[in-house]
This record gives sequence, C-alpha cells and structure tokens, in this order.
Amino acid sequence: MSLTLDEARTRAGVLSSVSYSLDLDLTGPETFRSHTRVRFRSTVAETFLDLKGALAVSLVVNGEAVEVAYDGRRVGLTGLSTGLSDGAVNEVEVTATIPYTTDGDGMHTFTDPVDGSRYVSAYLGMDNASKVFACFDQNDLKASFAVAVTADPADTVLANGAVVSHDAGRWVFAATPPIPPALLVVAAGPWHSVRWTYALDSGESLDFGWHARRSLADELDRDADELRRTSEACFVHYADLIDEPYPFDSYDQVFVPGLNWGAQEMPGCVTYRDELLPRGAITDTQRAIRAVIIAHEMSHMWFGDSMTMTWWEDTWLQESFADYMGYRVAEAGAGFSDLRVEVEVGSKPWGYRSDARSSTHPVAPLAVDVPDVDTAATIFDGISYAKGGACLVQLAFWLGDEEFMAGVNRHLTRFRFANATLADFVESLAASSPKDVRGWVDAWLRRPGFDTVSVRRDGDVPVLEREGSRPHAFTVAGYDSSLGLVERKRIELGAEPVPLPEFAGLVVVPNAGGETFAALRLDPGSWEVLSGGLSRIEDPLVRAVLWSATALRVRSRDLSADDYLDLVETHLPADTRADIIEGVLAETRSVVIPQRVPASRAAGAVARVAAASAAGLAASADDEQRALAWAAALAATSADAELLRSWLDADKVGVGIPLLPTARWAAIVRLASLGEADARFIATERDRDGTAEGDLGALRALAARPSTSAKDAAWEAMLAPGVDNRRFGALASGMWIAEQAHLLRPYVTAYLAEAPALATRGQAFAIEVGRAFPRIALDEGQLDALRTALAGDVPTILRRSWEDHFDDRE
Ligand SMILES: [Zn+2]
Repeated sequence: MSLTLDEARTRAGVLSSVSYSLDLDLTGPETFRSHTRVRFRSTVAETFLDLKGALAVSLVVNGEAVEVAYDGRRVGLTGLSTGLSDGAVNEVEVTATIPYTTDGDGMHTFTDPVDGSRYVSAYLGMDNASKVFACFDQNDLKASFAVAVTADPADTVLANGAVVSHDAGRWVFAATPPIPPALLVVAAGPWHSVRWTYALDSGESLDFGWHARRSLADELDRDADELRRTSEACFVHYADLIDEPYPFDSYDQVFVPGLNWGAQEMPGCVTYRDELLPRGAITDTQRAIRAVIIAHEMSHMWFGDSMTMTWWEDTWLQESFADYMGYRVAEAGAGFSDLRVEVEVGSKPWGYRSDARSSTHPVAPLAVDVPDVDTAATIFDGISYAKGGACLVQLAFWLGDEEFMAGVNRHLTRFRFANATLADFVESLAASSPKDVRGWVDAWLRRPGFDTVSVRRDGDVPVLEREGSRPHAFTVAGYDSSLGLVERKRIELGAEPVPLPEFAGLVVVPNAGGETFAALRLDPGSWEVLSGGLSRIEDPLVRAVLWSATALRVRSRDLSADDYLDLVETHLPADTRADIIEGVLAETRSVVIPQRVPASRAAGAVARVAAASAAGLAASADDEQRALAWAAALAATSADAELLRSWLDADKVGVGIPLLPTARWAAIVRLASLGEADARFIATERDRDGTAEGDLGALRALAARPSTSAKDAAWEAMLAPGVDNRRFGALASGMWIAEQAHLLRPYVTAYLAEAPALATRGQAFAIEVGRAFPRIALDEGQLDALRTALAGDVPTILRRSWEDHFDDRE
C-alpha cells in the first residue's frame, strides 16, 4: 500500500514552508540510526509523516516527547500549531532505528568480495525516502535538507550538497535548495575518487567528482579522462542551451553497487549502476550509451530536480525530456556521433512494444489514472522514456528548434525549484509559437498508441498515407533499384495522402531520419528491394529505422519470426555498425525468439543466431568493435562447446580480440546450459574472477545447467528470504533458457504461484520479480495458467508486468 494521490493532494494543501535537518548514523552493523528534525507550517492540527519499516521510533512534537503512533509506515502527528504567525511553525523530531536493505530500495548495503569493503548508500526515488528518514514523502512538498552523517572514519561520504566539514567519520553537508525528499542521496564507503574544479563563466567555480568502489579503481582511472571530458562538455552545452544557471552547489557522480535503475538523478550527486564501469575494456557502444546516460542525468538537474512534476502523471515532464536531452546533448555537446542510430535500434523498439500493449497509456496520462505511487512505478516504462523522448524529437522538428527551446526555457525559469504540470508546460510552449501547440499536445501526448505511415503506388508514383490521428513531419528518402540514394525531402503528413511525383519509380523509405514515432508499411516493391539489400544502404540511420520497423511487424504478426531470422542471417553479418548489430541481436534473442518462436523450434532459432554470429565474427577481422559484438552473441548462443572452451583457455576470441569478462561469463553460462560445465568448473571460474560480477556469473551458470537438481537449487535460492536484488536477477536470467522449455515446466508453475508474495517486498524488487518472468515460449496451457493467476490477487507492479508478458505472447 503506497501513498495515494488523494492523500498527497490533501497533505500538500495543508502544509507549507517545509525544511529538514537530517542526521544519519551508519556505523551500526545491521541497522542505522535516523534522526529527522522537520519544520513546517500547517493549517490542520493532525497529519502524518511517512516512515517505512523502522524498528524503534521516538517522537518529539514542538519540544515535547509524545507517545508515538506508528504502524510500520506512518507516524501520526497530532496537536500541531496551525496558522501563519511565527509561533505557528511546527518542529517535529523523529528518531528511528531502521534495518539496512539489500534490494536497492532504502539504505542499501553491499560488501565487496574483492577486499571486504562495505558500502552503504541511500537509494531513494518513488516514495522510498521514508525508508531512510521520516518525511512528507511526496514531490510537491519540496524542502531544503541539511544533512549530517556519521560513518566509519575510513569512509568517504557523498551527498547532494557540498561538504561543509568532515572530521573523524562525521560529515556535514551544505543545505540543499528545495528538493523532493526522494531525491536525497547519501553514499558512504571507501570510494576511489577523481575530483577536479571547473571554472564557470560567472567567475565562480564548481567542484566535480567521479567515484567508484575501491576495487574498480583501475577501471575508473582507465576512463577518468573520458568521464571528465564528457561531463564538462555536457555541462558547457547545457549552459548554452538552458537559460537557468546550474541549480546546485557541486556535481558528484558515483558508480554504486546494486542500484536498481540505470542511474538516478540526485541533485548535485548522481548515482550510476556500477556495471557502467565494465572490467577489462569498454566497447564503443557502451561508451556512447554511458555518455547518453551522463547527459540524461545532467538534464534532470533542471528537468525533475529544479522543475519537478507535481504528481506522477507528469513523469514524462522529466523522463521524456531527459531521454530527449540525453541523446541530443551527448551528440551535439560531447561529440558522440550518430546516436540517432542507437535510438532507433536500442530505444524506440522498447517504446513501440510498450505502446502496442493493452497496458499502454498516454505519454501524459491523467492524474486519476495514476492513483498511487505503486501505480506510478509502473509508468517508468517505454512510454515515459522512449516514446516520450521520440515525441519530443518530433515536437522540436515540427515546431522548429528555436521555438521549442524558447518554450522549454520559459517553463524551466517559471518553475525554478517549484512543481509543474502538463498544463503549465503547454502554457510555456504556446507562448513561444504561433502553431497549434495545444492540438499537437492533445494528439501526441494525450492519446495512447501510434499511427502507421504507409506507402502505396499510384502508377509508379508513391503516395504516403497515414492511418491514425497525429500530424507527422519527417524525411522521405528515395533510392534506385541498387539502393543508391537519389533524393531526400522533408514532408508533413496529416489526414490527406501526400503523393510524391518526384519519387516516381524509386524505392521509398518514410521517416528516413527517424523523426517520427510510427509503424511503417512499405509498398511491396520497395520492401522487396530493401529486404534484398538492407546491409547495402549507406546511411546507418535508415538501416536502423528499417530494422526497427521490421521488428514491429514481427510483433504484429505481419512478418514471421522465420522471415526476420532470414534477414538477420542474410544482412546483419555484413553490417558495418556495432550498435546496429547489438541492437538487432538483442531484439532477436530477448523478444523475437521467446515471444514469436514456439518452444519446439527455439533451439533451431538460437542456432540461426549462432550461425549469423559466427559469420559476423568471421567478417569482422578488421573491426574490433564489431568483432566484440559478435563474439558476445556467439558466446551466448553457440552449441560448439569446443570453440567456447578454446576461448576460455586462451582468454581471447581468435587473433587479437579479447574475451571480455561479460562475454567470458556468457560463454560459461552457455556451456553450463549445454551440460558442458559442472559445479566444480563453475566454482573454478568464480575463484579465477574473484569479483562481485564473478559471483553473479557463477550463480547464473549454476542455474543454467540442464538438470532438475540445478533448477531446484536455483529456484530455492531465488526464494531465500532477503536475497539481494542482483543475486535474484542473476539466478532468474540463468534459470530460463530458451531451449530448456520442457525441463522448465514445473518452474513456470512455481513462478506463477510464488511471485505475488515475493513482489510485496518493495517497488523495485517487484519490478525485479516481474523481470524474472519465464523468458521462454509458453504454450496454451501455460498462458491459461497466467490468465488464471492474473484473476487472483497480484500486487500492482507485478500485475502490470504480467499483463505485459501475456500481451507479448498472445
Ligand atoms: Zn531519468
């Protein structure tokens, strides 16, 4: 049961002028001490503070110790002073003892197997601030936070504000500007740090820092120059783009263990999952995606942290903007080129998939459709990120960038350190453009689903048509029969068909620049030429658009999985871009095969991916990036145990191509799934690796073995009380192997029976339990069992995940 919209509205209506002093003692082994002093005005005598899972709570209201009314999630407040006089400011103190967590929500602890170092970090977001301190845990009761932390004297403590003082494990941080409680962060541990001071144009300076676990010091040092360069370049670009100055007093970025999200936009101190600092080497695609995430999180300093949504229906106001800005600024500011290719193959397919499901929702839903925070946790999805970001690409293209940015800037300035809604944004935007902004918003942000742009022929003249209801602006490309580019043109498409006489006789690709968000239906002649020569199209963005459009056709059963696999085998090995190869392989392995290939034919489909990967690897001798992409895929799909063992022995893939640690574990997991790696072999590999990643790899490999005893052991470990989020995820990903559908039947049943109870542990863990859904083809009986389970009592977040899995397979 999470905070509801009604409760939040009521409380926001009666409270004001909130500020906090927070004192955390992280030196306890099992629990930490949390002391909150909150000051606020109230127009009512009674309200409540949120505080989840505390073991012992004491309460002082306006100087008097009072008996605490605490039900495990809320502290009741009574006898408050009301009114506006100076004497009416309430001061409440709550002291609580709270257990650490291992599921990535709340005060998360992690002990590094490499050196025994312990890290303790508050991972908040949603309404998880109340897992760390007593607060009014909602976005529209923003407050200044003055934070002090007591930690192990050997630790460094990072938090939102700049350090004011630290001495013998006692750290005091500068008070923040008004922020939501859920954006607070504290990260304590023996961090390895790279710090520098950046001179601002204003003459002032800003302290930057990158931090990682001590055992990742080599990796951080390896990437430090690039991380610094990217951070500074993005910062400078935002200073050009955004009128409001940077809102906070420092900018730390920390690679933390066990984070549930890719990263979190905590003001002045961003956290990243530390898998973004990979061991061995980092590939170009990983570098580019990491730069996008850096730019994404930095945009949140304005979009979300300074200007914050009022309630969760406007999640898009921060996530869609951050998605859009992340790609834009990493490319234009930090110099990572061709990122629109990654958008097409890596991001938009997620948006289309989400938008094709019955659970889809408008980018900007109504508040009443997000009645509580648990429901809010379900809309951090492909709609709020990928589709919302794509809509903003379309908006900027349709409106013109100058008008778009003028509206955005007006909005950010109006709502500096405040809360805003869709209506506020529309008002800001409409003041910057004579176009029908309200109509556009209604068509694109208020309606779920997407249009189809189709091409028909009138004689040999292509005619573009729209099925749907949205205005589109995009580029059309025309090719000759050998796929040489002849013509490109910007067009606008509405209800009226658009004939293109100048493209007569040409092969036509609408949305060639990826500007709009729509399914494509090509005319048969164009499809025949394009599908025959996909890898020969020179522009990688056009290839990416076509791969993405084709995957969508597989989803809508307009194209068979076999036909898609034909394209993969025929064209992907010849593609020159690692990002396209990785994106298409991910779609094939995690979407097309489990969702569109029956279990009896899964092995054949995996073998086709392996064949394509072997061909791709052979064709990539001159390009290490492509070779690494293909090697990772072959490691995970090959049935050639001898080949995989030879890679492990040499710790490389043929001449000059290293076997990166993640690919090495993929190969071990694969060998295990083939029955070619026993527990002793896996233990040897784990010891050889010696890191947390090695522990997880070994768990995954043990779970992948094709025996009932291995599956029993994995399943039991997933059910262990207090299992941490990463171990749970690793076990689940080892458990479900496409070719083991028959062996896995009892565990599908067990999963459907046990998951609802597992999902009550917390929002993020519920998402993890949803992700642990069987990644194999389900037969009719199993789909019936899922339908029956859905008719029962399933927690909100898991229900959404299950409905989506059901939808994906129907
Ligand atoms: Zn974000």
